[in-house]
Amino acid sequence: MERWAESISSRRWIQGAIFFAAYLIIATLAGLPLEWIGEHYERNYRISVQTWGGWVGDEGKLLGLTLAVGVPLMLLFNWIVRRWPRRYWLGVWVVTLPILVFLIFISPFLEPIFYKFEPLQKSHGDLVVDLEKVVARTGTSIPPERMYLMKASVKTNGLNAYVSGIGATKRIVVWDTTAGRVPNDQVLFIFGHESGHYVLHHIPKLIAGYAVGLFFVYWACAAFAAWMVRRFGAKWGTSELASRTGFVVLLFALSIAGFLLEPADNAFSRHFEHQADVYGQEAIHGIVADPQKTTVGAFNALGEAWLEDPNPNPFIEFWLYNHPSTQHRAYFALHYDPWANGGHGEFFKN
Ligand SMILES: [Zn+2]
Repeated sequence: MERWAESISSRRWIQGAIFFAAYLIIATLAGLPLEWIGEHYERNYRISVQTWGGWVGDEGKLLGLTLAVGVPLMLLFNWIVRRWPRRYWLGVWVVTLPILVFLIFISPFLEPIFYKFEPLQKSHGDLVVDLEKVVARTGTSIPPERMYLMKASVKTNGLNAYVSGIGATKRIVVWDTTAGRVPNDQVLFIFGHESGHYVLHHIPKLIAGYAVGLFFVYWACAAFAAWMVRRFGAKWGTSELASRTGFVVLLFALSIAGFLLEPADNAFSRHFEHQADVYGQEAIHGIVADPQKTTVGAFNALGEAWLEDPNPNPFIEFWLYNHPSTQHRAYFALHYDPWANGGHGEFFKN
């Protein structure tokens, strides 16, 4: 690939763009069979209701997005490795963080590439009124104009509601498989949970955690990749990390680190998700008749819609689950009643 890219143009950055685009296309095609098997099962079990044509179209859009974001980033990172061959991992670390924040910031603008959105008020005025009660209790200041209905039902039978964006772009999104199909009280809990992620600053905390973690990950991967090039470089046809082929060795080291650190990443995530569950249940207290019953009902609805394993293997849960299992979440909710005997919750004074 390196020789091919060099034969097409004499400009370094064009060679790089061709090389990294080809790399990303090959990586996507290599993963496609697994994606296809996943979609095949989701269709068989009626979680996915998308047509195969629609699925292929979505995969194509995803590849386009991957190229649009990935190629410039890889050119930049590869340039940093060439420019500072010894301390490049520090430079890469410094630029990773603002890029991460930027990607979170623009994510609401990318969502309409895959789904249609319309104002929630248009079809679910009653739900908007209820949601505003939770907004008032949590102090998240999201007006009805920034509540959207996402047309998920053309692709899935799954349930969801979420909050995305930062500052002026902050918005509530409720899937049309959820609004009107599960009781409004349960949608309020899902929304309360999502609000918890915002109120409890989970995104900034996650970014801070990544900042610390990535510092050591990049340092270790730089050392590991340098060793791989010394040991296998001749066989793999690469002599230095600063070359494009060497950059692929760096990506390989990073993907191994990502796999090994997945349990740690997921443990942090499960902790935040549990906090958001507690927050969500407290957020609907005084708004719905019975927060415990509502929350358990919401978990049952989610578990049934996504056909979740009601009793997953503990090792699988430890390694792969970024949320606690639905069973654990429902069990906690069933027994969480801090208001009994005049008490109050962890996050609200009443
Ligand atoms: Zn969550």
